Amino acid sequence: MTGCVSRPSGRGVTSGITKHWLSSAELPDSRSIKQKVTVQIDPSVCILAANCVGIEPKLFQIGQEPYIELIDATGISQGTEYTFEPSETELEMIEEAVDSCPTRAISMQTAI
Ligand code: SF4
Repeated sequence: MTGCVSRPSGRGVTSGITKHWLSSAELPDSRSIKQKVTVQIDPSVCILAANCVGIEPKLFQIGQEPYIELIDATGISQGTEYTFEPSETELEMIEEAVDSCPTRAISMQTAI
């Protein structure tokens, strides 16, 4: 037989996309996912007790103004609000600083 053309029906065609459900062993460790954190200082209530500086001197610094300022990893002042991705240890130190501030001048917000 001549002139017979086979037309693709779509059946048996693979798209190349396969679903693969991750097992718990394959899921990323939640501690390895870095969170963005915004730390804020309320200058109107900071009394320069410096508890925060004692806890995390790499983030809190007594600056020129009569309140604490935040500094980045290179030591440059970020003023009273700073957003960054802290390590697990840094996050714990920030939480400790928030809890130790006698006037509740430090606040922290997290977002992934
Ligand atoms: S602990 Fe609170 S009041 Fe004391 S310096 Fe730090 S932000 Fe200011």
